[in-house]
Amino acid sequence: MNGSNKYNSWGRYPNVCHTKVVTLPWCHTDFNSGIIEDESTCLVYGQGRSYGDSCLNERGTLIDSSCLNHIQLFDKEKGILRCEAGVTFDDLLSIIVPHGWFLPVTPGTRYVTVGGALANDVHGKNHHLVGSFGNHVTAFELKRSDDKTYLCSEKENPDYFKATIGGLGLTGLITWVEFKLKRIINSSISTQQKSFASIEQFFELENVDEREYTVAWIDTSSRGNKLGRGIYFTGEHAKEHPVSYSRKKTTNRSLNMPINLPNVTLNTFTIKAFNNLYFYSHQNKKEHSLSHYAPFFYPLDNISNWNRMYGKRGFFQYQCVVPIQDGKDVIVELLKLVSDRGMASFLSVLKRFGDIPSVGMMSFPRAGYTLALDFPNKGKRTLQFLTELDKLVQSVNGAIYPAKDARMSPEMFNQSFPLLEEFKQYVDPHFSSSFWRRVTSS
Ligand SMILES: Cc1cc2nc3c(=O)[nH]c(=O)nc-3n(C[C@H](O)[C@H](O)[C@H](O)COP(=O)(O)OP(=O)(O)OC[C@H]3O[C@@H](n4cnc5c(N)ncnc54)[C@H](O)[C@@H]3O)c2cc1C
Repeated sequence: MNGSNKYNSWGRYPNVCHTKVVTLPWCHTDFNSGIIEDESTCLVYGQGRSYGDSCLNERGTLIDSSCLNHIQLFDKEKGILRCEAGVTFDDLLSIIVPHGWFLPVTPGTRYVTVGGALANDVHGKNHHLVGSFGNHVTAFELKRSDDKTYLCSEKENPDYFKATIGGLGLTGLITWVEFKLKRIINSSISTQQKSFASIEQFFELENVDEREYTVAWIDTSSRGNKLGRGIYFTGEHAKEHPVSYSRKKTTNRSLNMPINLPNVTLNTFTIKAFNNLYFYSHQNKKEHSLSHYAPFFYPLDNISNWNRMYGKRGFFQYQCVVPIQDGKDVIVELLKLVSDRGMASFLSVLKRFGDIPSVGMMSFPRAGYTLALDFPNKGKRTLQFLTELDKLVQSVNGAIYPAKDARMSPEMFNQSFPLLEEFKQYVDPHFSSSFWRRVTSS
């Protein structure tokens, strides 16, 4: 155990100091013998792939879950996996893919833990067909600060089940998770990509598409009748080839961002230039191809520490969801605002969520369009601009994703999560986060 500030979130903002970091495996420790002292609070840290402050606990204790790294059960016939919560998706892929199984849902990086995926109820490119990660979880164990443990499933302790999925790590320590895998017959992905000349064209395209995985990249520097142009990527697990799994570990990072780039490197000019280049280089690419699953699901994982590109001040990711009805207009308005304010975003992603209800009381995914934008942190100017975006999202009862957030107001948080008051009953009295104190003004 030691004090440390090396535990950051992916956006590297805010930069906070923790009083203590506990790295012991949970089975060798009790909350009441060392983790919790007096009025202090604690929070579990996975891989810190959340962008804002939901994985940070300023002036409190962090429990590093990396020692919870054991697989407990892998039923290769039924596709059921049970593992400790610090196991990463990267670790799992190298074990399950050779046996013809895949993750039921995966975010855009494989360097997340199973506990982190559950606590944020993460979504993937297949949300429109299968919902979010929590929809595939059959059971987990929750350890509370009074050292009581709860087996949670739809039938056992269902209230803790619903509060912990998407519960932002506030209901206690998740020790292990059991979930259902997806059968595949080939590890490759049959992909398609299509450019669209405007946001209106995107809505026409995605409306008819029911491929398994869908996502669009948007050129946020475009304006006028090209506003919202971009590339629509779709894919599905290849069926046409016999099994051709690689037994190699899937970690194959070829590039690294060795230093923080100076804050001026990513400015409006360079971001616009990147957007243009990206659009034109993909516009004429082959429409259909067969790809390894890693570049399809995790294009950024190839560049270690790519977040350093934003310099020491870090960056904000802004991810909202707006309902289908009225949502299209708001997406157009959001893109107009980005373009009018000259705030082009480096990486911008748009996707339709389906209507499978999320299990968690505080889950972010819900039917609608979700837009994710990245902005370098330029202090007050960026914060004011993001508040302007909030107003548009609020006007249609949309929501902001806590896993990406470092600045939303308590009012915006309240509006985003209608079951917030019910959820509060399940928050462990000794658990808290910088995010939680900020959005509940506590
Ligand atoms: C490049 C990139 C792409 C991404 N793409 C997506 C995407 O497509 N969809 C999506 O939904 N998200 C996406 N994310 C966000 C990421 O999936 C989530 O923030 C995820 O929760 C991070 O997992 P982690 O293990 O790093 O957890 P952390 O970020 O360390 O923690 C996240 C939360 O989980 C809690 N937690 C972690 N372990 C435990 C435990 N054992 N017990 C109790 N609580 C725990 C923490 O307290 C915290 O509240 C992306 C992130 C990056 C960097």
